[in-house]
Amino acid sequence: MLKPILCLDFDGVIHSYTSGWQGAGIAADPPVAGTLEYLVEATKHYRVMVYSSRSKSLAGRRAMRRYIREHFNVPLTFSPVHDVDWLHEAIRFPWFKPPALLTIDDRALTFTGNWLDFAPEKLRRFQPWNKRPATLSTEQVGHD
Ligand SMILES: [Mg+2]
Repeated sequence: MLKPILCLDFDGVIHSYTSGWQGAGIAADPPVAGTLEYLVEATKHYRVMVYSSRSKSLAGRRAMRRYIREHFNVPLTFSPVHDVDWLHEAIRFPWFKPPALLTIDDRALTFTGNWLDFAPEKLRRFQPWNKRPATLSTEQVGHD
């Protein structure tokens, strides 16, 4: 049986995106801490697909694939079973939004079924994880 699809955003999730948008083919910032370990674990349970605003261009898809290969093709010291030469092959980069079971994105909200939770004045206060004040926890930021 096929594993379910887990869709990951790229900028702000895998690629730290500290320099902001440099073009679809450019991803020059370091990975978000823990990404390699997460990808190794996630690919055991899910078909991991990276889908981003970059995905619509061939240059963008190539840049994301190259990024995974260049940053994560290192021998694992924490797993006796794998090295990660396979990792950039295990991860897919579709040009369309995949039919994912779940999506992880730094700029998305989980729909609650109540549109009042998404009033424009509330959306204006949204901050991605890397822009939030360090003193606030996720729970504090998520509730008014
Ligand atoms: Mg993003």
